[in-house]
Amino acid sequence: MNNNPTVLEIKLSSIEHNLNFFRSKLQNSTKILAVVKASGYGSDAVRVAQFLEEQGVDYFAVAYTDEGISLRESGINIPILVLHPQLQNLDLLIRYNLEPNLYSKKIFLSFLKIASDSGVHAYPIHLKFNTGLNRLGFKASDVDFLFMHLKEQRSILVKSIFSHLVASEDENERKFTLEQIKKFQSIAASFESFLGFKPMMHMSNTSGILNYPEAHFDMVRLGLGLYGFTNDIQANLKLKNVLSLKSVISQIHEIEENESVGYNRGFISSKTTRTATIPLGHADGFFRSLGQGKVFVKVNGHKAPVIGNVCMDMIMIDVSDIICKEGDAVIIFDSQQEILEIAFQANTISYEILTAFGNRIKRVTQ
Ligand SMILES: *Cc1c(COP(=O)(O)O)cnc(C)c1O
Repeated sequence: MNNNPTVLEIKLSSIEHNLNFFRSKLQNSTKILAVVKASGYGSDAVRVAQFLEEQGVDYFAVAYTDEGISLRESGINIPILVLHPQLQNLDLLIRYNLEPNLYSKKIFLSFLKIASDSGVHAYPIHLKFNTGLNRLGFKASDVDFLFMHLKEQRSILVKSIFSHLVASEDENERKFTLEQIKKFQSIAASFESFLGFKPMMHMSNTSGILNYPEAHFDMVRLGLGLYGFTNDIQANLKLKNVLSLKSVISQIHEIEENESVGYNRGFISSKTTRTATIPLGHADGFFRSLGQGKVFVKVNGHKAPVIGNVCMDMIMIDVSDIICKEGDAVIIFDSQQEILEIAFQANTISYEILTAFGNRIKRVTQ
C-alpha cells in the first residue's frame, strides 16, 4: 500500500510513440530488445514490460537476475536477457527461463556445467565481447576457448553475440566507434565460420540506433529512447514525454522579512514571503544539489522556485506570487525539457535523474 501523494505518472502512449519512432529508423527485419533494467529506468518495469510485450518487441534486457524473475512472475513470456547475471544465480536463470549474458571464461564454464547437470538441451545463452568499454566481456582472443567448449556439447546454444558501444552519442569519437564496430564484425565472422550458423548480432543502444545504422545488425537494444530521451536534441523533439512527477502542498507559511527557511537557514527572506512545503526530498531522488533556487516547480500554472536546502523528505518553495492553498497540486516536472534542466542543475545526465526516484514515490501508469 502506498498512499504517498507524490506520484510518478508513466504515460504508456508516449512509450508507444517513442518505440515507433525508433522502429522507423530500423529495417523491418531488425529486432528490438527493450531495456527495462533499473525498474524500467525508474518507471515501473512490470507495467512497462507488459505494455511493450503487447506492442510486439522481441526481447527484454534487465541488469540482474532478480529483475528478470520479477518480470517472469508478472507473466512476461518473451525472451529476457540478463546482462549481469552473477555466478550465485545461475541455477535460478534456468528455473525462470532467463537467458544469461556469459561474459567471462569463469561464468561461461559455470553455466555450462549447471546447464549440462540440469539436463537442458540447447539452452539459449548470449556471449558478450569487449570491444573497448572494458566493463564486461570476452576478448577477441577468447574465441578459441569458446569454440573448444561449444563444440562437444548440446546443453547450450549461442543465441546471440553482442558488444556495447563506448561513446555512441559522441560525434568526436566516431573513429573509435567505427573501430569498435569493425572489431565486433570480425569476431562475428570467425564465429560464423566455426559454428556453421550465424548467431544474432547486436551492438547498438539508443544513440547507436540514431548515429550508427551500420551497427544495427540483427537487433538493437533500446533503453533511454523509450523513456523519451536521446543524446540528440533534434531527435528529442520527436519523442514524447513519458514521466511526470506530481505532488501536493502540505502546508503554507507566511513569513516576515529576515526569517529563515529550512535546515541551516538555507533561505533568508528579503521581504514578507509565502512558502509551501512539498512531500518530496533527497531520499526520493530530488537531489540536495537542486535546492537554493536552482530549479522551479509549478503550482497552478506558475513557476515556484525551490528555496533553501532540500530535506530528506521535503522541499520548500516560494509561492509569494501564486494563488494557492494547502492540498493544491504541484508539478515537479512534466516535460523532457524540465527533466533535462534538473539533470543540468544537478550536474548529471538524464539517466541518473530517472533512475534516482525512490521507492516511496508511487508509480501510476496511464
Ligand atoms: C543499459 C544498456 C543498454 C541501453 O542503453 P540506452 O543508452 O539506455 O539505450 C544497452 N545495452 C547494454 C549492454 C546496457 O547495459
